[in-house]
Amino acid sequence: MAAGEYVSVSSQRDSERADLRIEARELAANPDEELHELQDIYTQRGLEVELARQVAAQFQRHDALAAHARDELGIDHNSLPSHCRRQ
Ligand SMILES: [Zn+2]
Repeated sequence: MAAGEYVSVSSQRDSERADLRIEARELAANPDEELHELQDIYTQRGLEVELARQVAAQFQRHDALAAHARDELGIDHNSLPSHCRRQ
């Protein structure tokens, strides 16, 4: 399928799924960098650095992709079909 066709038929959900796939790859390739990213998001939202580090680490251990989807991408992970959730 040509790229143009794909874009024309893609819904917001398709782009969210694509974002999640990219995020999952980044998490697998650079877990430390991704942890920092999450920590920065939480400090920007008002948490102290040390607390942000702990929260980021716990979320990343619990379900890294869900945490990044929610807090980095603004995607409600649970609204996606189950086959898109855990990688
Ligand atoms: Zn991320």
